Amino acid sequence: MAGYHAKKRLGQNFLKSPEVIQRIVDEVDPSPGRLVIEIGPGRGALTHPLAESGVELLAVEFDRDLVGYLEKLVRKFDNATILHADFLTFEPDAVRYPVFTLLGNLPYNITSPVMDWCDRYHGRIESAVFMVQEELALRLAGSPGSKNWSPLSVMTQMLFDVDFRFRVSGKAFRPPPKVTSAVVRLTPRATILDTATDAVRQVVKVSFKQRRKLLINNLVPEVIPTVAQACEILNDLGLDRSCRAEQVTIEQFLALTNGLLRLKLV
Ligand code: SAM
Repeated sequence: MAGYHAKKRLGQNFLKSPEVIQRIVDEVDPSPGRLVIEIGPGRGALTHPLAESGVELLAVEFDRDLVGYLEKLVRKFDNATILHADFLTFEPDAVRYPVFTLLGNLPYNITSPVMDWCDRYHGRIESAVFMVQEELALRLAGSPGSKNWSPLSVMTQMLFDVDFRFRVSGKAFRPPPKVTSAVVRLTPRATILDTATDAVRQVVKVSFKQRRKLLINNLVPEVIPTVAQACEILNDLGLDRSCRAEQVTIEQFLALTNGLLRLKLV
């Protein structure tokens, strides 16, 4: 697209490496009869090979200046549609496929709201392949006991298994971003532990408020009035009173939330 200048405010770093593009398309595992919704197709680096694969493709682009170009790019494919919209306001109710795969080389400024979107519509998501900043990918895929275990890890992994797939150097993009990126793959958990309710969200947020503090010191007095009561609650759950939030598993956060709900503390 001669003369087009990438827009920083829309997080436009376009993929140019054929190897990386192919690896991402392989992650999506496109096959006819399935629906892929692409977030931010940009200049079509992933859109074109996906349309060519025969998969049903709906690509949602916010930048009006790119829409005409994208429409021309996929004109010969009956299976590909370009939608000019803000993905964050996109509602999948009208989509006739019961489930779909989400794909996105995500602009860094909408990563968090896209994760909230996944939370809201998790029942419709068959899988999601996202390229994000490496640091965020590590947090999404983090496990208890590691420094990457965070509210984002807990809330995402309550609904999805997260697989850190591979790193992508800045050289694979034009213009190159300052940080390394990584591709993650989300698949729905075999057993949904619970929906990410507001109560769980609140407990997890408070528990991690000051990472270096003991869990008990984050919970008292904001959620639990006294240390004695907190010790009793943690003890009942088999949690050590000297543990930190980064050691607490999803199952333990859920049990803690249920205990606090029973006591009407959240
Ligand atoms: N997929 C392309 C690629 O890999 O080369 C472009 C990726 S670029 C990092 C992000 C794209 O998302 C841009 O095209 C940008 O205009 C688009 N975008 C930004 N915010 C958006 C939003 N809220 N809804 C849909 N697209 C958005």
